[in-house]
Amino acid sequence: MTEIGHSAEERPIYSVQIHDQRVNHNVTIVIVFGSHSREWASQNSAVFLIRHLLNNTKLHRHIMTTKWYIVPVLNPDGYHFSTTKSSLWRKNRRLLANSKCVGVDLDRNFPAGWKSASSKKGWCEQDFSGPSTLSENEAQILKVFLEKISYTDAYVDVHSCSQAILMPFNYQKVDIPKDSLKSMTDAANQMKAAMEKTRGTKYAVKAGSDLRVVGGTSLDFAFQDLDIPITFMLELGYVNKGETREDLLNCFHPSDENLVFLEKECLQGLLALNQYLVSKHQPRQKSPDDFDIKNQGSTKSTLYAVSLSSALFQMSLLVRNKCWQ
Ligand SMILES: [Zn+2]
Repeated sequence: MTEIGHSAEERPIYSVQIHDQRVNHNVTIVIVFGSHSREWASQNSAVFLIRHLLNNTKLHRHIMTTKWYIVPVLNPDGYHFSTTKSSLWRKNRRLLANSKCVGVDLDRNFPAGWKSASSKKGWCEQDFSGPSTLSENEAQILKVFLEKISYTDAYVDVHSCSQAILMPFNYQKVDIPKDSLKSMTDAANQMKAAMEKTRGTKYAVKAGSDLRVVGGTSLDFAFQDLDIPITFMLELGYVNKGETREDLLNCFHPSDENLVFLEKECLQGLLALNQYLVSKHQPRQKSPDDFDIKNQGSTKSTLYAVSLSSALFQMSLLVRNKCWQ
């Protein structure tokens, strides 16, 4: 576990890197959770995923040969605020200069298509895209983190609760290049099939712009600006999701029973993505400039670069307990 920076209110933002140091790594997956603070299934699914990877690595060779980079809570200030004061808060908690409003929507603050997003939203709106592109600490931290990783096969940004696996573009109604579209659609369909097995939830596979056209997402930034070949926004969600405010609240803040299903769906989707990538890749030599936890001053165990540290337990308690207050 590595601290990759601090939020506007000085909370640490962590990344968790999981890999077996004894093997060459064919695949690198980066997964980010909790950019939208009210989408509690996301942060909880991060803990569920980390526990699974740490507990099951010996059993699954396809997990062992992958480097997993996980940011469990990109927006800790917003998450704290959502779980203690205002449950539908979505943005970060930065005090904006010359404004009575607080916070920026981190997933509207990235460069790709930002201009189109910024022109439409007021500063007090929950999806305010910020005074300028990458104006927010948390977005900057994620950008730098992604750029340090020498090669990323797939990037997934986990949200809730639109029940979909979204591909680029989000900011424009333009198809991505054919090769990219084919590999992304193939991977997404494998994820969808695996997720559906949990309890029958059918996830839609489509472009983000088919859900809504918005700019400044990390989905488009990772694909367009960082050239990561497979990028998804995973929108966890329910079967028979209703449209009322109560339905929405239930979806953003699921019951314990529903939360477990969402965590499992997320896990199964990500494992299926990994399996897809492993099946497509030839072994690749480790690059000398691979972003490695050794260079970040973190602890490491003999077998894995990451263990369930006390910080992870603290994070887990935060996720498990504060949601239900
Ligand atoms: Zn979201």
